[in-house]
Amino acid sequence: MSSFIQRCIAPDCQTEYNIDERLYVCSRCGGLLDVVSRDFDVDADSLRELWRERKSSLDVRDRSGVWRFREFLPFAGDVEVVSLGEGNTPLYEAPRSADYCHLSHLRLKHQGCNPTGSFKDTGMTVAVTQARKLGARFVACASTGNTAASLAAYAARAELPCAIIVPDGQVSHAKLAQALDYGAKVLEVAGNFDSCMNVIRELSEGGAVYLVNSINPFRIEGQKTVAFELAEQLEWRVPDHLVLPGGNLGNSSAFGKGFRELLQSGLIDRLPKITVVQAEGAAPFARFYREHDAFVNEEHPQTLASAIKIGAPVSWPKAWRAVHDTGGSVITVTEQEIADAKAVIGRDGVGCEPASATTVAGIRKLVSEGAIKEKETVVAVLTGHLLKDTDYVMKYHSQSLIAPDGEQLASNFGNSPIRVSSVESVAKVINEIGS
Ligand SMILES: *Cc1c(COP(=O)(O)O)cnc(C)c1O
Ligand SMILES: [Zn+2]
Repeated sequence: MSSFIQRCIAPDCQTEYNIDERLYVCSRCGGLLDVVSRDFDVDADSLRELWRERKSSLDVRDRSGVWRFREFLPFAGDVEVVSLGEGNTPLYEAPRSADYCHLSHLRLKHQGCNPTGSFKDTGMTVAVTQARKLGARFVACASTGNTAASLAAYAARAELPCAIIVPDGQVSHAKLAQALDYGAKVLEVAGNFDSCMNVIRELSEGGAVYLVNSINPFRIEGQKTVAFELAEQLEWRVPDHLVLPGGNLGNSSAFGKGFRELLQSGLIDRLPKITVVQAEGAAPFARFYREHDAFVNEEHPQTLASAIKIGAPVSWPKAWRAVHDTGGSVITVTEQEIADAKAVIGRDGVGCEPASATTVAGIRKLVSEGAIKEKETVVAVLTGHLLKDTDYVMKYHSQSLIAPDGEQLASNFGNSPIRVSSVESVAKVINEIGS
């Protein structure tokens, strides 16, 4: 569809650009760009039907949980997509997590079940498809780990050389291992994620490199389809609350955009309240929400949830729109709350990485404050897979998880391994469990 353009989101600018202009921010004012369609005149019922039919098709685009919704993506119907079969992630009923939060029901949308283990894949398939369409010769990003793993995989599929810039010594082994195996050039920068972002921004000004950080509006386009998939899984009944972690705030922006477009097209009849949860030590967006003042970056973000250890989130104006338009909120949780919530999610047989567990920790807090009612419908978005950070898990379960401030965290749901030396001691343990 050629009805798509890029448009600056700054209310007093709104400059429009061709969909294939290679930009990351507005060249007039530096504002963030949105991909917008001039035309959302669709027939809701026939679209729902078409999307359902595609689930049984063998076409690569139909097998993808992102490209299945391609009527809302800024590409012609015959575009050659770079896909690893992303999306189509499960929505789990989570009774133990619900109990923990004092809710009757809680659902977990597990985006950790994507090809490289995080939601980043749903955006990367679109960004790398766009990179190839633009004839880019090189792709790059800054990352706390998951974007790196995802870009490395999709670049390999597209046979595009790729570089990723990561904070030295701060990326989990699992994420780094993925990027190395997929063949990316891994460049380690002394400093944190925000320092990596600065390097990348300077690089992009040269024009040789195509940047796929979440400032890239095409990534947001892919990520927004998760709202479509979720709405479909709920038979187009929108939950009262959608809760997700916030780091660079691309995901919150994408959910906001996805639900807004669904509403505009008549596919849903209201919006969920979108609430963003940050770790207490890396919470510039929560402070902005509380104080309604100028946005101030966090100079020294601190949290063990490395995927959201970000002090200067680029997408905050878009995420703000999502929270504000839907009547949601932005809250923080402590390292202890994250660690315990993560273990509880594990007990549901689901599991996730630390950043994702901010959601259940946050929901528990919102219920206790009365901001979420026991019978309301709530979906927590789990952003990454349990196996992304096993070091954290092992430390939690062996009572040796140390918070960034040096405090030892309690392992309230700890489950440490038991050393056994004989059949008798095994039998004794089994008897105890059984009784
Ligand atoms: C990237 C990431 C986040 C943060 O998402 P943003 O879009 O940067 O807010 C949270 N959790 C996991 C597991 C991630 O990979
Ligand atoms: Zn502008």
